[in-house]
Amino acid sequence: MSDEQGFLKAINRDPKELTHRLVYADWLDERDDPRGDFIRLHLALKATAPDHCDRVAGEHELSQLRKVCEPAWLAVIEREYALPRAAHSQHGCGCFEGLSGKKNSPTPYFHVEAQDTECDAWKRLLDLVEDAAADGREEFAPLREMDRATRLQIRTLPPTIAKLKAVKQLHLYGSNLVRIPPEIGEMTSLEEFTPYTSYELHWFPYEITRCPNLKDSTVSTRALYGNYKYRPPFPRLKTGAEVTPGLLETERLPLKRWQGNSSRPCSVCGQPFEDRRQHRVWVSLRVATDVLPLLVNACSEDCIKRLPAPSSKYVQTPHKGRHGVQQPPRGF
Ligand SMILES: [Zn+2]
Ligand SMILES: [Zn+2]
Repeated sequence: MSDEQGFLKAINRDPKELTHRLVYADWLDERDDPRGDFIRLHLALKATAPDHCDRVAGEHELSQLRKVCEPAWLAVIEREYALPRAAHSQHGCGCFEGLSGKKNSPTPYFHVEAQDTECDAWKRLLDLVEDAAADGREEFAPLREMDRATRLQIRTLPPTIAKLKAVKQLHLYGSNLVRIPPEIGEMTSLEEFTPYTSYELHWFPYEITRCPNLKDSTVSTRALYGNYKYRPPFPRLKTGAEVTPGLLETERLPLKRWQGNSSRPCSVCGQPFEDRRQHRVWVSLRVATDVLPLLVNACSEDCIKRLPAPSSKYVQTPHKGRHGVQQPPRGF
């Protein structure tokens, strides 16, 4: 067996063990093989929350590196994409299984699947957004234009949705989305939002509250963090760096990014600020028809104090998630 086969065999046997992957990445680096960078960046993104402001750039970079990788190799390294997906079933992702919110129950974590920005499905979506922005259409249903296999490759929407200033109805029925970008708040004409049966969509960005005309929504509420029926716990919101120091110890990858020193607009006041990820909170608010768990990235405690009061029957203060948070009883 070659060294390389040995590494892949070890990773296959124990996919969660980081050491095998990092030793293999070092071995690839020594041979100037860009797949070493792929392994490190893949691990870094798995440890990075979906609302991190540099995630979009990181996923784009990972997609570029992916182009030189063989499918059989990716099936081992990016195993999460090779496994058969039970999407469109109520229990597609299994995030809430075994989570009771009690102390000893496992800690919930975000979906951190990376969007492949080099796949045809993503390029098609970018084109559809440009077309819709150019012709000023009022109804946008991009997933209807794709077959199921293509649709499943779409895990988020591009930031360019900010250009859809005329769209009143956004239909995302039956999607495989795991997150909606904050730029949805710039869709100023939006009246109706339908991500119904998107069972892996467990939260929304606070920026959605900026859509002044949004009055109708159809959301699969059982898939939401903190929903009144099951009260699944919210993921814990960490502060500061998310990626273990040392993971990206290579000259070629910009480690600075994941240390939480990038600029972003505040979810509340809109002012750009240097994001050290210190003022991130959850708040459950009524948005159109439904109460949604909203993730806030604020510039200051003052902006957190300016948040509207949470909906009754939900946690009554902005919070940081995990088990320390006492939710009201189920069904209340
Ligand atoms: Zn899930
Ligand atoms: Zn602010």
